[in-house]
Amino acid sequence: MRPPTATLEAIKAYQRKVEKSKISPDNLPPCPRCSVDSSFFKIHAYRERRFWVIVEMFIKAAFCTLVRFRCPGCGKTFTDYPAFAIPHKHYTRQSIMGFSANYLESDDTTYQQAVMVDNSVPGYARDDATLAPSTIHRWITSFSRFIKICRTALLLMLQENPVSSICRDLGRIMIPQRKYTTQNRKKQLIGSRQLLLIEALFKATFKTSIFTKLATHCGFS
Ligand SMILES: [Zn+2]
Repeated sequence: MRPPTATLEAIKAYQRKVEKSKISPDNLPPCPRCSVDSSFFKIHAYRERRFWVIVEMFIKAAFCTLVRFRCPGCGKTFTDYPAFAIPHKHYTRQSIMGFSANYLESDDTTYQQAVMVDNSVPGYARDDATLAPSTIHRWITSFSRFIKICRTALLLMLQENPVSSICRDLGRIMIPQRKYTTQNRKKQLIGSRQLLLIEALFKATFKTSIFTKLATHCGFS
């Protein structure tokens, strides 16, 4: 099995687009302050970001420039996030979702098991450290905060297919009691698992991921 990760190639391809000025503000929503359409946004800054990609079980740094746009109406700035990026996260979205799914989609898997791929754990190329089980715990906490994204995606899918069973499917999600000790954690686990299901159904319905256009429109919240 291959570890879930965005590829170095995908990151390099985005970097080439940045260097050729091919990143447009089209994926961004209108300015929430003054309603100026994103097509009028101007490039404000380039910011280099480090991403962790997993290459044959080694966690390696890949650098990529993200583009920040500015609203000409009020000066508010907005970042364009490529499909592999989630704000404030260094691992790629594919790793974050894949390892979180290892934990969430099985009743028995522990955090220690969720970081494993074929009985070993991806490790950093520069030292002996490996992907930590607590990292998956944190990723799931972050995902559970994407409430607006889930709600918006759900509404779009119900508009597309009003007789869809999706609400029933989401309501049926259960988390075994041994996976949580507080009601708050239970809520987070259910919310994150719902996000994974919504993403799969959204892809099947619209042939595109929630990430990143819809997520950006929802302000990654
Ligand atoms: Zn504005």
